[in-house]
Amino acid sequence: MCRTPDSPDSAGPSVPPWNSIPLWQAANRSLAQALGRHRPRLAPAIALAGEAFALLGQLAPVMTALGNLTCSRCLSPCCERARVWFDFRDLLYLHLTGQPRPPAQLREDLHEPCRYLGAAGCRLPRQLRPWVCTWYLCPSQTTLLGRGGRHPLGLVRRQLGAVAELRREMETAFIRAST
Ligand code: SF4
Ligand code: SF4
Repeated sequence: MCRTPDSPDSAGPSVPPWNSIPLWQAANRSLAQALGRHRPRLAPAIALAGEAFALLGQLAPVMTALGNLTCSRCLSPCCERARVWFDFRDLLYLHLTGQPRPPAQLREDLHEPCRYLGAAGCRLPRQLRPWVCTWYLCPSQTTLLGRGGRHPLGLVRRQLGAVAELRREMETAFIRAST
């Protein structure tokens, strides 16, 4: 299910970016056009996005198993209240890896639960979720991973860090290609 930070009082925007369907569609259209214009110079950014996609694919079974052990019995799912959303890097990643874009931002208003939260957890495939939904480990999960086993906390954090770094490099490569 949900793997997002619970920080309802943190500073930040009062609404997510591209929080209506028209704004979401316009943002995706603009990005697609920008990528089309710079396509000849995008090979490095596309390669980095692909590496992040592959590494995330390796991590996905671990994160799913972790969610099954923790989120399925969580009394206060963070997806209902976390102030998270798709950000620019998430959109860029989806476009560069050729993934289908979800139909809308997670929520129109930060007081709403995530629209992709279903009765059995997140309805988005792992690769389509905002990165924060995979990156965040809640206290129950860090405790569980901290007990060791085949996927100890340190290893999972290192793998998450590697994906995060690839995503940062992907964005830098995109900016370099488009300026
Ligand atoms: S177990 Fe943790 S990650 Fe899962 S829903 Fe609850 S708070 Fe969120
Ligand atoms: S996309 Fe929504 S339901 Fe899915 S993990 Fe993220 S916050 Fe939770």
